[in-house]
Amino acid sequence: PVITRFAPSPTGFLHIGNARTGLFSWLYARHLGGKALLRIEDTDKKRSTQEAIDVILDGLDWLGLEFDGETVFQSERADRHAEVAQKLLDAGKAYKCFATTEELSEMREQQRAAKQPIRYDGRWRDRDPVEAPEGAEFTIRIKTPEGGETIIEDAVQGRVKVDNREIDDFILLRADGTPTYMLAVVVDDMDMGCTHIIRGDDHLNNAFRQMQVIEAMQGVEDGWERPVYAHVPLIHGNDGAKLSKRHGALGVRDYREMGILPEALFNYLLRLGWGHGDQEEFSREEAIALFDIEAVGKGPSRFDMKKLLNMNGNYIRAADDARLARLTADAIGPQADVAVLTNAMPVFKTRARNLSELADGAAFLFKSRPLDMDEKAAALLDGEAQTRLSAISGRLHAESDWTLTALEANLKAYAEELGLGLGKLAQPLRAALTGQTTSPGIFDVLVLLGREESLARIDAQVT
Ligand code: GLU
Repeated sequence: PVITRFAPSPTGFLHIGNARTGLFSWLYARHLGGKALLRIEDTDKKRSTQEAIDVILDGLDWLGLEFDGETVFQSERADRHAEVAQKLLDAGKAYKCFATTEELSEMREQQRAAKQPIRYDGRWRDRDPVEAPEGAEFTIRIKTPEGGETIIEDAVQGRVKVDNREIDDFILLRADGTPTYMLAVVVDDMDMGCTHIIRGDDHLNNAFRQMQVIEAMQGVEDGWERPVYAHVPLIHGNDGAKLSKRHGALGVRDYREMGILPEALFNYLLRLGWGHGDQEEFSREEAIALFDIEAVGKGPSRFDMKKLLNMNGNYIRAADDARLARLTADAIGPQADVAVLTNAMPVFKTRARNLSELADGAAFLFKSRPLDMDEKAAALLDGEAQTRLSAISGRLHAESDWTLTALEANLKAYAEELGLGLGKLAQPLRAALTGQTTSPGIFDVLVLLGREESLARIDAQVT
């Protein structure tokens, strides 16, 4: 069975690029009926606060990515990491390195001066530990192969290889007995039984190193099978540079606060680097049925905010009105009424591209009288407009049928009487009813506000 994992580090936010590889890992497991596991890489104690962990868990939950089994916390597995290092040591596949920090920085200095690649030179690889001073500190380093090459058949990148001379004997266990990231990741992947490692291609170089640990452990313990690697290209901004703060929001939470629906972000991240013909939108079920790692592109994908917003607009139009009403009410504030919004949603959701636009559009429904007017709206209520507004008030007070058709017929008749376009007439009316110069169609506004409130708002503006 296929087992994937998503292994975020708690950095304070769930980066959308990480969320995307998390989504791919999750989808791939779901697609093949396997297991999608979650591991929190919380070894950096300073950054890994409960809050930082919750940001990740909340983000995944919001996106609807529920993982299988218990969440693994890397920090709780330090003993096992040390055990693997010890086993490699016992098997002669790792060794103690007594080089001091000063000594190593001197080594690097010399390499730099000689324009050689900077890497550990293996100075303790063949030395006898008895040569070390009594009680000296040591790290445990892996003994990597001296010749040949390491090849990865990456499911996204294709065949990639590295000359083994480029892989130095890196540290597995630090002098204080704590595991390095390189060791912890691979031990956890193996113990969790991961068959597929889907992650950002910034980890490709690590894969060559992690492979050394896997290969070294093969004669030592059972179950150290090479997983399939799939290194997914990172997301770039629309200028082609690696996505960073200056391109805008990076955290999943930012998008949520911006009023993006989770299903829209899900779909957008799915489409970043993966496609199925020219289909743009996929339900969760379709995504699971169709997703395949082989179809993930090799080139970096570009984040396009406009496209995300357009997609979000489509999802808003497809979303359930009561749900949208609840979300919009949250954005408007305590004065908002969910029942009123549910009823009004078909009118508002036709144009909005995010929940804030929905909230901005619908907020006038809940304004208290007298309405605060924006400046442009106030200007529409001066002079001639007063005469018209009071005439409209008279006609609407006399209107017994408060429906779209009746109201439209009523005001159209008045516009014709005046020889004016309906738009001209609607302007002061809109200002009086909403305090704004833009709103949904004026008859929709009248119906949504209802007879009593509409008349009260109009009359409040007739001086
Ligand atoms: N914790 C690493 C990160 O957040 C990912 C490690 C991995 O996927 O192997 O970048």
